[in-house]
Amino acid sequence: MREVYFDNNATTRIAPEVLEEMEPFLREHYGNPSSAHLFGARAKQALLEARERVASFLNVHPEEVVFTSCGTESDNAAIRGVLDALPEKRHIITTRVEHPAVLNLCRYLEERGYRVTYLSVDRKGMIDLEELREAISPDTALISIMYANNETGVIFPVKEAAEIAKERGVVFHCDAVQAVGKVPLDLGEIPVDLLSLSGHKFHAPKGVGALIVRKGTPWIPFIIGGHQEGGKRGGTENVASIVGLGKACELAKEGFRELEGVRKLRDRLEEGILERIPQVLLNGDRERRVPNTTNLSFVGIEAESIVLMLSEEGIAASSGAACSSDTPEPSHVLQAMGVPPSAIQGTVRFSLSRYSTGEEVDYVLERLPRIVEHLRSLSPLWPPED
Ligand code: PLP
Repeated sequence: MREVYFDNNATTRIAPEVLEEMEPFLREHYGNPSSAHLFGARAKQALLEARERVASFLNVHPEEVVFTSCGTESDNAAIRGVLDALPEKRHIITTRVEHPAVLNLCRYLEERGYRVTYLSVDRKGMIDLEELREAISPDTALISIMYANNETGVIFPVKEAAEIAKERGVVFHCDAVQAVGKVPLDLGEIPVDLLSLSGHKFHAPKGVGALIVRKGTPWIPFIIGGHQEGGKRGGTENVASIVGLGKACELAKEGFRELEGVRKLRDRLEEGILERIPQVLLNGDRERRVPNTTNLSFVGIEAESIVLMLSEEGIAASSGAACSSDTPEPSHVLQAMGVPPSAIQGTVRFSLSRYSTGEEVDYVLERLPRIVEHLRSLSPLWPPED
């Protein structure tokens, strides 16, 4: 059976070039970078090179890169590290549409006495910078706003938000897990204090991420242990995966031109679906979004059924966010955007990558209309009353 992977916001395949550079560190160069002998020295040198690659990709200093185990750890380390460094401040500002790595941590902190402002979004999934300005108080320790939304792909005005934070002297963290590798990010231009990224979202392996901590940021390490990462994150480094992350950054830096091709394919898929299938809503700002993502509501049917039937045809897509596909609750992102519940339940996300092809798009366009027609013919919710 033909297989089509259009779930790249959940995770991506490891690029062959990444795997090739990692392999020697899984086989023969298995030393601990902290060891004084030749095995250790090789691993230490590999870490140094990977750190330089990540730093050059984002235009930061190598000492500002802290390797972590994933995006969730980076988000936790960023937020908790700032709060610990500023114990007198008890207010956090974030948005209603963050990933659970930020949202659930904020809820946990609320239970422990912090005040959290959750900024709203409009029908296109966009925040209002005026609302951000008004939310800042002398008690605000931190603003944490994502770069691109994992469900809709909508890109927030992070540069402008970070400038507001800077003007008001508030620390700014950005969860850029869904933006890295999809849009160019130059931290020389965007004044964030902390930025999270995750390897497996852009063709490096799972189990590795990074947190950028700009110099002078009030921040205390979250994982306390040995002296690794300059004392900023204890734990023996995941050398092979860090090598992979460095290579993925290098490939992403070289590959931004390819993203135009990804955008064209995504648009072809999206337009093809909207032309062929009636009563489909596109969620999120059409212009301000990452080039690989489309989020579509198929009115009158359940997304889970569409995803299962697509899977039977070898096609991988996601009903809302992959991280929440085993929780039956409707998407918090689409709810915050005011998408009607009848549309939310039929929402499918297709997310492409630089490995996606036109034939794959055509295959989906051939199979999907029949699936939707079949499910609607069985659905008590179809046709909709209004
Ligand atoms: N932040 C965003 C926006 C994400 O999309 C994800 C994963 O889906 C994460 C954080 C968590 O990253 P990880 O899976 O590496 O923990």
